[in-house]
Amino acid sequence: MASFDFRAWARRAADWSVDYLASVRSRPVRAQTAPGSIHAALPALPPQEGESMEAIFEDLDRLILPGMTHWQHPRFFAYFPANSSPPSVVAEFVTAAMAAQCMLWQTSPAATELEARMMEWLRSMIGLPASFAGVIQDSATSATFAAVLTARERALSYMSNTAGLFGTTPLRAYCSAEAHSSVDKAIRMAGIGHQNLVKVPTLGPMAGIDVAALDDAIREDKSAGMTPFLIVACLGGTSIGAVDDIARVADVARRHGIFLHVDAAWAGSAMICPEFRHLMRGAEAADSFVFNPHKWLFTNFDCSAHFVKDPKALTYTLGLKPAYLRTLGLGDNEVPGVTDYNEWSVPLGRRFRALKLWFVIRHYGVEALREKIRGHVAWTRELAGLIDADPNFELTSTPVLALLTFRWRPAGLAEDDPALDDLNARLVEAINDSGRLYLTQTRHKGHFVLRFQVGQTETTREDVLAAWDDIRTIAASLPR
Ligand SMILES: *Cc1c(COP(=O)(O)O)cnc(C)c1O
Repeated sequence: MASFDFRAWARRAADWSVDYLASVRSRPVRAQTAPGSIHAALPALPPQEGESMEAIFEDLDRLILPGMTHWQHPRFFAYFPANSSPPSVVAEFVTAAMAAQCMLWQTSPAATELEARMMEWLRSMIGLPASFAGVIQDSATSATFAAVLTARERALSYMSNTAGLFGTTPLRAYCSAEAHSSVDKAIRMAGIGHQNLVKVPTLGPMAGIDVAALDDAIREDKSAGMTPFLIVACLGGTSIGAVDDIARVADVARRHGIFLHVDAAWAGSAMICPEFRHLMRGAEAADSFVFNPHKWLFTNFDCSAHFVKDPKALTYTLGLKPAYLRTLGLGDNEVPGVTDYNEWSVPLGRRFRALKLWFVIRHYGVEALREKIRGHVAWTRELAGLIDADPNFELTSTPVLALLTFRWRPAGLAEDDPALDDLNARLVEAINDSGRLYLTQTRHKGHFVLRFQVGQTETTREDVLAAWDDIRTIAASLPR
């Protein structure tokens, strides 16, 4: 087998990456590939003899690249962002070179201690008090799962890990109907039973949870002999960016002695701007809080910042110390500075995720990160004004930070015209088939609506305005 010229191919990968990002603007944003075509183009069996790297790179360009949806495209306005940045990519490269496991302090002391420091930086960047400790999880889903398990254990005096849930009264969890499906998943996985997740209605322009209804639901469940144990508050829901009044929700949680988890997966990054922090008022009273720097803080997936008030409750729940994971020489007592982060998360193995945060935050500095997010929010507001002023389109929810929803309602069609859903579904497809921009849809108040979020690293105001022109042009060209 030929030897691998690592230096040459690492340079090639670096050049490839720079060229890719420089040319991404010219590619269709959403892959324009027929289902199954790439699978069919790949050999059914692996090669028995090694192939040349030249051939592999050629196939990367020929087979793979045309089948990618370009998340770093400046006209990616779909879902939520999963943005990245050159310093983050560079950090990921050197992280891959070291390929360390960061489950115990001893397995990479620098990774553990940098992670602790980065979580302190993030905590202060978003204005959470020092009463929170942090850990980097692989995803918000994992963080929320860890929170559900911790809340479950706390409510059952840390007995359910040992005794199971048999014979316990039903545990009840609460969130609004705008909460992310990761809450549903966590409730299922934690053995709580999906029927014990109470979806409380929402109220008001920000679609926040109806706090009085939340309180009523908890009281009713208590008097029915059930055990309310968890509230998940929503700070920036995925559908329309719903925001709960966390201070009032925290008040309910405190009065009933219930664990409060805040899911700010997307919106949390914007909290580095003090002017947006009113949205998280009351979060200091939460038991845990999650946001994803891998969404909107220019840091590659995976990097989910999970803050907890009581790390002991988390490590009692998830920590295990089998003989083969003991660090000899440190004894069984806690050693200051020694954190074994695997006890804070579901998986044992852990990537070195703190390094990319360190590169990103140091390279940009907090002020430049704020400026980027402020731009995204300002252009979203500007777009909202344009949509509002157009007689053929309407905003369908209050814009939240850099997310708005809207729909095409050609002048003359009534709000409830049954043709509107189909018209808008065809509009989204035509927009995405154009390759010029990419956005996705949701349902809101019974209607099919389009979501538009601004959050890519290289997106400019001109991109947003050009996208709006494209949307109107494409709508006007659709047969009705
Ligand atoms: C994206 C998102 C999640 C899930 O995030 P992962 O890190 O992909 O698990 C959870 N909640 C909200 C509000 C989200 O926007």
